[in-house]
Amino acid sequence: MLQEDIQQHLDIQWLKIKDMKIKEIYDTMTYGPAPENADEAIQFLKSHKNKFKLFINGKWVTPASGDYFDSINPSTKEKLAKISEANQADVNKAVASAKRALPDWIKIGAHQRARYLYALARQIQKHSRLFAVLESLDNGKSIRETRDIDIPIVIRHFYHHAGWAQLRDTELKDYKELGVIGQIIPWNFPLMMLSWKIAPAIAMGNTIVLKPAESTSLTALLFAEICQQIGLPKGVVNIITGHGKTGEALVEHKEVNKIAFTGSTEVGKIIRRATAGTGKKLSLELGGKSPFIVFEDADLDSVVEGIVDAIWFNQGQVCCAGSRLLVQESIAEKLYKKIRARMETLRIGNALDKSIDIGAIVDKGQLKVITDLVQLGVDEGSTLCQPSWSCPKDGYFYPPTMFTDVSPSATIAQEEIFGPVLVAMSFRSHKEAVKLANNTRYGLACSIWTENINLALDIAPQIKAGVAWINCTNVFDAAAGFGGYRESGFGREGGREGLMEYLKPRINDKFTNQPKVISIKKSKPLGVQSNTKVGIDRTTKMYIGGKQARPDGGYSTIIKSNNDEYVGEVSKGNRKDIRNAVEAAHANNKWSNMTGHARAQVLYYLAENLAIRREEFAGRIMQMTNQNSTDALKEVDLSIERIYTYAALADKYDGKVHHTIHRNVTLAMPEALGVMGVICPDESPLLGFISTVIPAITMGNNVIVIPSEKLPFSATDFYQILETSDVPAGTVNIITGHKDELAQVIAKHDDVDAIWYFGNTEGCKDMEFLSADNMKRTWVNYGKYRNWLDKAQGEGEEFLKHATQIKNIWIPYGA
Ligand code: NAD
Repeated sequence: MLQEDIQQHLDIQWLKIKDMKIKEIYDTMTYGPAPENADEAIQFLKSHKNKFKLFINGKWVTPASGDYFDSINPSTKEKLAKISEANQADVNKAVASAKRALPDWIKIGAHQRARYLYALARQIQKHSRLFAVLESLDNGKSIRETRDIDIPIVIRHFYHHAGWAQLRDTELKDYKELGVIGQIIPWNFPLMMLSWKIAPAIAMGNTIVLKPAESTSLTALLFAEICQQIGLPKGVVNIITGHGKTGEALVEHKEVNKIAFTGSTEVGKIIRRATAGTGKKLSLELGGKSPFIVFEDADLDSVVEGIVDAIWFNQGQVCCAGSRLLVQESIAEKLYKKIRARMETLRIGNALDKSIDIGAIVDKGQLKVITDLVQLGVDEGSTLCQPSWSCPKDGYFYPPTMFTDVSPSATIAQEEIFGPVLVAMSFRSHKEAVKLANNTRYGLACSIWTENINLALDIAPQIKAGVAWINCTNVFDAAAGFGGYRESGFGREGGREGLMEYLKPRINDKFTNQPKVISIKKSKPLGVQSNTKVGIDRTTKMYIGGKQARPDGGYSTIIKSNNDEYVGEVSKGNRKDIRNAVEAAHANNKWSNMTGHARAQVLYYLAENLAIRREEFAGRIMQMTNQNSTDALKEVDLSIERIYTYAALADKYDGKVHHTIHRNVTLAMPEALGVMGVICPDESPLLGFISTVIPAITMGNNVIVIPSEKLPFSATDFYQILETSDVPAGTVNIITGHKDELAQVIAKHDDVDAIWYFGNTEGCKDMEFLSADNMKRTWVNYGKYRNWLDKAQGEGEEFLKHATQIKNIWIPYGA
């Protein structure tokens, strides 16, 4: 087929040039086809009789359903192979196989696992061209990209993680494997996504069941053969193919300990809800609408090539595609002109043609999605620009496209198109650029173009995205984490950050099913300002925006001690109080803008002021819990110590500079999540409050706190400490009342970025389920109890990990 194309092309060229002068020939010369030989890939398909079974327990297994579906070459619409549709029984079989393989895989140890990962890297490298050709045939992406980008990244991933496998027992000794991992991947980077999932998972001692996307299963099935070739122990890697239903069965399987998913935000939300409360660990790499920001001092010719890589690489079917071009008004027209000219010179065609820039869209359905959204863009009044040339008709092709005159609220400016469509908008000031960039529900990546490094480094932290590329775009490496903020999901892939998704702290094994029982002994009461009926009545208000606030509803609740004695009354907060607290938290940017040192000073001051009122706080604990004075004083002292720990960490919990393979400084910076809800435990009224609230604010978050419903007074007394310790208004907001009702309001609130919940199993499930709407980060205890008095369980960097997310900032160098 391609050979005929070449002959036809040569004949046409000859007719054109035979009577021309040499100079004229140079001026009009066009590229001819340069087809890649697909024989070996075709041979691979034939070796399976163009009909693939499932890869379970190291063997090819006929699907229980007996159903198959077609895999199509999108460049030609020709059928490549039949693929098995795995059903529930197949999923059960695959999970059982992974579970059986687990004990031995753990037992063989770090070094042996490292050897297997190394062997996988070598074997893929030896067959790299076969993988590249097969990927191009199956997906429609150009051979230039699969050969030079996808497959090298895959190989690098296995090498890099062979290293992590080796270091597992020394570098990560406080963590252990999770068990059986279910992994579900999309079609845009089929083998690359497989490597991002499988390499870290098995390196850390887990076994896996992976489901590739239905339209691109072939390289995963070739990978299964590679596993056989290197003698990977049976059952460590199982590959099951199928549609969404197969994925669903894997997500819902009770023996699966973690789901790692890459795909659309829509399905990500379904999975978040389906796994809510099950205790399955979850990482979600979802969609994006990433800004590509160009300041007026940028090198515009580099910018144009950057745009080609940002939105026309892989036909724009890239989760982190720079699909929103934000350009400073003074240079906008000049840049648009250059982009239009460059669009004319892009070449589109069969993915196996080595001299094309743009391949085919993955399938008919995706082509329709793109076509419809572009039509909507036109209908909504934006100006469409496409090159004058037309696309080949024999496959699913779509031309490079740019929209100008786009309103920030237009559908095409907000929805992920997942195609070669650039949407351009302009800005005037730096502030406006940041505002426009963040005007999206997503937060995967951003690309910043300026010759002023100070400006770039000022802008990068202000963009809510997991990756910031400065004067570059779409750069990836196994040593750096990749992943999103907001509705682009949570979790990271790559680097040390990515390993954490496949591990759990060993200390978790110490958590109990019941809270620690407090032994009640008689002892003399300690001096405490009483709000019993005999003293002067002390109204416990709530604390919002640095002020004591009465509850909106005008209700209070009587609080009784552990042995049923009246202790006092607390305000009963409602939905409106939560809304006010969230607003107050958002209005405060003082705390997040402070340096780690400055925040540490405030935390020390809190500890100092608590120490001054040590006896009073202990007395309050005694009143509520009937503990003896020794235990109550111990709780206060531990609380002071705990504040010290986080004050100490405030300027020490910092990032890394990753050793990526490109000429880049890659900064991995932990950033505060934003506004967090903290639902405190009921155990240890003061220490439980301090152990959750203080780490949540240490790195710069503002919080809405729901203290223990049963024992709230340590928290409400604490706002007097907050008021006297220079904590900015809005940093800590305290709402008392019905714990689970208030927690649900926070979990549903779209302006809250994360929620920590320490409570019962039902509440944990609610938090995870309700947080799916805006993809809040959640950290819940699944009904397990920590002993807050134990330092190993009650404090440390693990808490700060859950209060931050890593942003990787890539800064290229070289003159
Ligand atoms: P998709 O969500 O439709 O499908 C992804 C995978 O999920 C497929 O394997 C599919 O079969 C499976 N699936 C579908 N429904 C399911 C269900 N209910 N339960 C379990 N599994 C189910 O996404 P897609 O169209 O294949 O891929 C495109 C999307 O992926 C885009 O939104 C893109 O941004 C995103 N993506 C994100 C990243 C990232 O790292 N953030 C990388 C690549 C792609």
